[in-house]
Amino acid sequence: VPGVDDVRIAMTAERRPLRIIAVASGKGGVGKSTLSANLAVALQRLGVKVGLVDADIYGPSQARLMGSEDRKPQARDKQLIPVQSPLGIPMLSMGHLVEPGKALAWRGPMAGNALAQLIDADWGNTELLVVDMPPGTGDVQLSMVQKHKPAGAVIVSTPQDLALIDATRAVSLFEQTQVPMIGLVENMAGYACPHCGEMSDPFGQGGAEAAAGEMGMPFLGRIPLAIDIRRRSDAGDPPAAGDDAHAAPFRAIAEKVAA
Ligand code: ADP
Repeated sequence: VPGVDDVRIAMTAERRPLRIIAVASGKGGVGKSTLSANLAVALQRLGVKVGLVDADIYGPSQARLMGSEDRKPQARDKQLIPVQSPLGIPMLSMGHLVEPGKALAWRGPMAGNALAQLIDADWGNTELLVVDMPPGTGDVQLSMVQKHKPAGAVIVSTPQDLALIDATRAVSLFEQTQVPMIGLVENMAGYACPHCGEMSDPFGQGGAEAAAGEMGMPFLGRIPLAIDIRRRSDAGDPPAAGDDAHAAPFRAIAEKVAA
């Protein structure tokens, strides 16, 4: 007759370890949070049991992006239980725990501890955890990567050269810590006219793809700068959940991430 400990060991053994995918950028404002939210939604549509962590401690936005601002996580045995987004994606964000603006005063170790609580939450049968990293390459990012050992990293950049230089910094953070690079996403790549749909490229075309090649990493795809993407993101209605043209690039990226 198996003892309690045997049963416990069997239950632990059955639960596969969470695959953590870190979504990072060299600087803020490039669309890292937008990509993280929509990547999670697109992965869910591919049948992946996906969860989402908003590790952007200083500017949490996932609760708004996913339309789950009104949901508060519970805790059991000092472990957080994720909230369910309206689309059924389990998620945790600093935005659920702290009043907007309050976390700004936190020092690195406090931020790191808070982040560990989110990642070590009770994720149930979640297989893959998309982690929206804080922008930049400081201590919080480094200790997260060392402690939680992501299975892979996705870097987000805009087409401007400056952002790409910043992206290179993010890449070296993961290289130093031996986290496999899944690839580079170019966001706000070209402008989709809301009236006629015609694309224009104010910052030229192909820069990010070339940069990815130079850095020896796969290019995952480009997402246009589109008013509709911003509008729907602000409204907590991720464009990746729709059936129009804006869902397609997120789906293509999710297919590469899930592969
Ligand atoms: P980050 O997480 O890198 O700071 P966000 O995801 O918060 O960046 O995006 C910054 C702003 O740009 C937000 O207002 C967001 O809605 C907008 N945005 C991001 N990507 C796009 C896009 N492809 N088209 C239009 N607006 C976008």
